[in-house]
Amino acid sequence: MNICLVEDDLLLGRALQAALEDAGHQVVWVRMASNARDWLRNESIDAAVLDLGLPDGDGIELLRSLRSQQSSLPVLVITAREALDQRLLGLDAGADDYLVKPFATEELLARLRAVVRRGGNWLDTDAKLQSGALVLDEQRVTVTKDGQAVQLSPTEFALLRELLRHKNRVRTRRQLEAAAMPDSDSQSLDVHISNLRRKTQRDFIRTVRGVGYVIEEPTTQGL
Ligand code: CA
Repeated sequence: MNICLVEDDLLLGRALQAALEDAGHQVVWVRMASNARDWLRNESIDAAVLDLGLPDGDGIELLRSLRSQQSSLPVLVITAREALDQRLLGLDAGADDYLVKPFATEELLARLRAVVRRGGNWLDTDAKLQSGALVLDEQRVTVTKDGQAVQLSPTEFALLRELLRHKNRVRTRRQLEAAAMPDSDSQSLDVHISNLRRKTQRDFIRTVRGVGYVIEEPTTQGL
């Protein structure tokens, strides 16, 4: 794969570039947000590893701007900011997953494989999934509500697709994680679901305490 590595730290950047190349990837390594901006939109890039703190800008802003242009590029955020609200911010801005520094390179490679695998799955089917006013088009990788586009991160999209594919049946946390975020920790599932609710309809996804989540089809029977 062609990976765009955005990391200003010289030592970490070198180490990550070497690890990614050892794993068989081509790496474009940039150290400034201004350079990353162009590379992230380059069609030859298959995935990005993105540091948040850059000398000339914030990785979050890069990510927001990328997603606002409908890009579904798989993005793994790496960050030294350990505060939970920063992680939330990263996922909300459209990151597929995040890693807090320091991390093992094996972990980075595994997470990267996972976010790319989720992205690649999108091209396999052409069905439209629907519930109420919400329509998910698997082929075009779009979601609309009342005909209006809803912007979702790749992980949110994968979660919504999994819930819609199994409408009216409870999906366990494990099933959802396997489908949409196989290498993430369990805590981020709730963050993604919470973002998904906010972007679609608040009570659209029901929590089944201690088990998982379900989308229930609104029924008109008996009315
Ligand atoms: Ca940095």
